[in-house]
Amino acid sequence: MQTLSDLLECFQLYAVCEPCQRVEGVDLPTLVKSEGGDYPIDRVRMRLYCKSCQQRSQALRIVYVGPDGKAASFRYAR
Ligand SMILES: [Zn+2]
Repeated sequence: MQTLSDLLECFQLYAVCEPCQRVEGVDLPTLVKSEGGDYPIDRVRMRLYCKSCQQRSQALRIVYVGPDGKAASFRYAR
């Protein structure tokens, strides 16, 4: 089972709403502060809620960004 601390260093989480195609970044450091590093990703998924269409989507996209998000900043700096 994956936990928040498994993803914190090298991954970014995005909540995806399939009905309206809305994608929102999940703030991992804030979640770790409020729920702790052992909090399971599956429970994050169950909590997902689209602010736009008011539906629970439960779809998570997990993106590798590398240590400290360097891979992501490299990609966006191009
Ligand atoms: Zn939606």
